[in-house]
Amino acid sequence: MINLELPKSMQDIAELAHGVGEGMFRPISRKYDRAEHDYPKEIDALRDLMGNTGDATSSSGDDKDKQKKTDKPADGSKNGVNMTTVVGMIEMCWGDVGLTLSIPGRGLGNAAIQAVGSPEQKKKFGGKWAAMAITEPAAGSDSGAIKTTARRDGDDWVINGEKIYVTAGDRCEAVVVWANIDPEAGKAGIKSFVVEKGTPGMELVRLEKKLGIRSSDTAAFSFNDCRIPGENLLGSAEILDKKKGFGGVMQTFDNTRPMVAAMAIGVGKAALEVANKLLSGEGVRTEAWDLPPARRTAVEDELIRLEAEWEAARLLTLKAAWMADNGKRNSLEAAMCKAKAGRMGNEVTLRCVELCGVLGYSENELLEKWARDSKILDIFEGTQQIQQLIIARQLLGKSSRELK
Ligand SMILES: Cc1cc2nc3c(=O)[nH]c(=O)nc-3n(C[C@H](O)[C@H](O)[C@H](O)COP(=O)(O)OP(=O)(O)OC[C@H]3O[C@@H](n4cnc5c(N)ncnc54)[C@H](O)[C@@H]3O)c2cc1C
Repeated sequence: MINLELPKSMQDIAELAHGVGEGMFRPISRKYDRAEHDYPKEIDALRDLMGNTGDATSSSGDDKDKQKKTDKPADGSKNGVNMTTVVGMIEMCWGDVGLTLSIPGRGLGNAAIQAVGSPEQKKKFGGKWAAMAITEPAAGSDSGAIKTTARRDGDDWVINGEKIYVTAGDRCEAVVVWANIDPEAGKAGIKSFVVEKGTPGMELVRLEKKLGIRSSDTAAFSFNDCRIPGENLLGSAEILDKKKGFGGVMQTFDNTRPMVAAMAIGVGKAALEVANKLLSGEGVRTEAWDLPPARRTAVEDELIRLEAEWEAARLLTLKAAWMADNGKRNSLEAAMCKAKAGRMGNEVTLRCVELCGVLGYSENELLEKWARDSKILDIFEGTQQIQQLIIARQLLGKSSRELK
């Protein structure tokens, strides 16, 4: 029989993360929504508490060294770092998405270093807070179209180009930069490089003002003849197969997409909880699941529908994380959970604003903030439309060239 309950060890992790969300994030949530670009020093302590383990919340599942067997059900499957991260992420983002993204030492660049870095690179850069710079002014969804180049010069690499919308770009200590080492080879020439802050030729040109996740800084960089040591290339400099493109670097997304889905589940959970509380104060029966539809009000019906959407997104996300932990190819499930959860997060938070009327729209509650914060979760790590494209390609057996 399928057991959809979280095992005890996962419940403990959820409880711990919920404590961070409730005790540390919620009290300062509005403060840093208003003080965009100010560093939330109150969460500095999390760096020592959680360590530098990888991506936005934990470490990449590709990092076999860090695969912790936190649970071992009888069928031999395990819950590892992906499940742990997803479960923890939901609860921390229940507290605040932007602050979760601001936890020192846990940038997306850390995930890349853990996923493709050599043991020496992990040792050298593992202690640094690393952001991830893929997006450029003319390359967003189509990350294979990046124009930034890395030219070999003696033992060094020389980087030239522009990167925009780099999460934690201001606060981080290093940036993992995607650049092409052989533009003639197309996507196959794309590699990632660790560029440490303070390297001559690397300049932070501006910080973006945003709709949501304002406590998380977002930076633009320019690279002008930025020289870095040869050993800062992550992975191999060899261009193995020009036709195959850059499937290798793209696989990082199979681990990070469930994490972004988990963020949407967290903020959706927060919105549903507050909406239920506010509406039950107005006489709405918020747990009216067992009443026949004819005896439920439109608002009660809507709350049930939103909860079902939320649960569907949650189960898809847990499945994608479980597959990653158990060495199963999960590109389809990672895209599915990201698409479902991204959409759900936007819908649930906005509908909760609507259902709660003026209270939902007012800054007295966090509902309006969560509606703003949720939007990005349907954009970064691949937009809604891109996830649907990936799902369609996989289901129809089409390549990216055949289905654009
Ligand atoms: C707050 C924030 C933080 C970010 N953090 C990072 C970061 O840390 N590192 C990083 O590298 N990037 C980051 N990004 C960039 C983010 O990943 C991109 O915004 C995203 O990939 C979309 O790219 P784009 O904005 O250029 O939109 P575009 O690619 O120009 O797309 C515009 C619209 O067209 C749609 N579209 C595009 N192609 C297709 C298609 N083939 N079929 C159907 N629809 C399509 C898209 O879905 C979208 O709705 C961040 C962005 C934001 C807003």
